[in-house]
Amino acid sequence: MNLLTRRSGISFLLSSISASQSTLFLRHSTLTNAFLIKPVVFHAQNAHASSTHHYGKVTRSASTIKLSSGDDAETSDGFPTDYPNLDLLIRPSIGAIRKACRIASYLQPETSNSQVSGITKTDTSPVTIGDFAAQAIVLKLLHEEFGKDQDVFIAEESSKNLDDELSNEILSVLERLGLDDIISTQKDLEESIDLGQTYKNDGDLLDSIKDMIEERKSKSLTTRTWCLDPIDGTRGFLRGKYDGGQYCVALALIENGVPVLGLLGCPNLPSNPLHENYEWEKNEQGEVDMITEKDRGCIFVAHRGGGCFQLPLYSPKGDDHDLSGAQRVQTTQSGSLPLEQSRFCIGVEKYGDPEGKVSAIATKIHGKLDDDGDILFTRRMDSQVKYGVVARGGSEFITRLPKKSYQEWIWDHAAGRIVIEEAGGKQTDTEGNLIDYGLGAKLDMNVNGILISSGGMYHDVLLEAYQEQEQERSKE
Ligand code: AMP
Ligand code: MG
Repeated sequence: MNLLTRRSGISFLLSSISASQSTLFLRHSTLTNAFLIKPVVFHAQNAHASSTHHYGKVTRSASTIKLSSGDDAETSDGFPTDYPNLDLLIRPSIGAIRKACRIASYLQPETSNSQVSGITKTDTSPVTIGDFAAQAIVLKLLHEEFGKDQDVFIAEESSKNLDDELSNEILSVLERLGLDDIISTQKDLEESIDLGQTYKNDGDLLDSIKDMIEERKSKSLTTRTWCLDPIDGTRGFLRGKYDGGQYCVALALIENGVPVLGLLGCPNLPSNPLHENYEWEKNEQGEVDMITEKDRGCIFVAHRGGGCFQLPLYSPKGDDHDLSGAQRVQTTQSGSLPLEQSRFCIGVEKYGDPEGKVSAIATKIHGKLDDDGDILFTRRMDSQVKYGVVARGGSEFITRLPKKSYQEWIWDHAAGRIVIEEAGGKQTDTEGNLIDYGLGAKLDMNVNGILISSGGMYHDVLLEAYQEQEQERSKE
């Protein structure tokens, strides 16, 4: 199945997707109502029956899920007036994220059979014109705002992967969306994308950047790093708007190896956490219900020490810098949901857990698997949207346990780290250590997995379950 083709008709086969298990997930996801995807073959009829003992049907008191509105007292546009760096950092970064979300949302295919222009990168991952356009716009805006401060930018995409035809397509999309006042030429497009190309293939920073950082250090100046994944979960993006395809624009600001600001723009995530249907069903006329359509999309914003907030995807006032409608979010508080009912929000792609360790962990936490031998209470979705779901109490655990040789990119977890921490949760390596985000574009080789939870006892339990199954594995 070609998910990604050029509009000119030249096809690029995404063999990594079509040949892998993800195709199975893809097909199942179109059959089920909620995003209750499990790696088993089941049919539309029993999908609904089986959902009763799954995640979407867990009954919980509304208060643990419901978003609380910001600070009860003084709020500025929904944010507390004393929220850290409100005007200096928060407004400009939300402005940039909203524009990127507009591009991505406009370009996301409606279903897994729809098309969007793009290419397959050498590592076999897909990249679309949406990735390039979103990266160019965000970096251009941030550079205008913060370049003079000698901030460093690290972002996933490179203009090397663009040709004239794709560039022209991107420029016409920017024009259609009224963003051509920001970028309107191919040269500007390429230069803007490459503002984030400050690292080598192995993740090490370019020597020129290292020299600049060292020079500033000698003057006792720290250098801030912005890290961007313009479309995190491109595979989810390609799964389609109405097929539950989740993805996000993920931006983090890192200081001294620690993320201090994180934004997750999630154009396809329901803003209402009680809205269980992640698939945006169409009605008999083929139209998406207007009520759920209005509910589509949200942005998570977290600055160290300020708490985590959820914002509407677009400002009701039509101003991208507007912060109205912000609501504070919190993870499930320790003890408020029994462990036997705790929920796993995990990736769709098998590379997040190639050895099947999550089943062993879940068995320890839930006490059992379901009758089909699958994890109870799971929700599968791509990208750091998972962090947003846990941040607002929609799930308790995320696991990321790729094969040992895989070294993670910082943009896949940096924004998620601060979002989850400010909501009351935790992200660590598998030994319980906090992760260093200041080593370049990749994490330390020795990080052999990432565990994320609602925090408190949930994290202790997750670490313990991971370590127990490792010990049992080593005895086998
Ligand atoms: P997820 O959407 O949670 O499956 O994670 C998406 C991210 O995983 C992508 O942005 C990739 O950078 C990253 N990724 C790609 N290939 C691999 C792999 N083989 N192992 C682990 N992570 C990968
Ligand atoms: Mg990406």
